[in-house]
Amino acid sequence: MATTYYNAVLGRMVEKEPRKPRRVRVHLENNQYVLVPKYLASDMVGITEYGDLIVRSTDSTIPAGQYEGLTGCCGATAKGCDGYIGCRFCYREVDAMLGAPLRDSDIYLKVRAS
Ligand SMILES: [Zn+2]
Repeated sequence: MATTYYNAVLGRMVEKEPRKPRRVRVHLENNQYVLVPKYLASDMVGITEYGDLIVRSTDSTIPAGQYEGLTGCCGATAKGCDGYIGCRFCYREVDAMLGAPLRDSDIYLKVRAS
């Protein structure tokens, strides 16, 4: 369903572009898949038993190559919120272990080898 908005430059209502898919499928070893932000897909290692994402870290807070846990909802890091550990993006409560580097034993399902 197309929506319109007022474009001040053109001085008229224009149709909003359909949203591009923000997420891509990453298949798991059990042949199910998770939807993850496209930029994370190549770093995906697997998921935790709570459906959170495990990626090979490429940023500076966790040494490169180690496993970093990102929230399944938004692919974001976890942070301390008001009395709980939450998703940095949407503030949903997430598993507290996402705040620390993850180990092989935290992998519940691995990404399927292609
Ligand atoms: Zn979230």
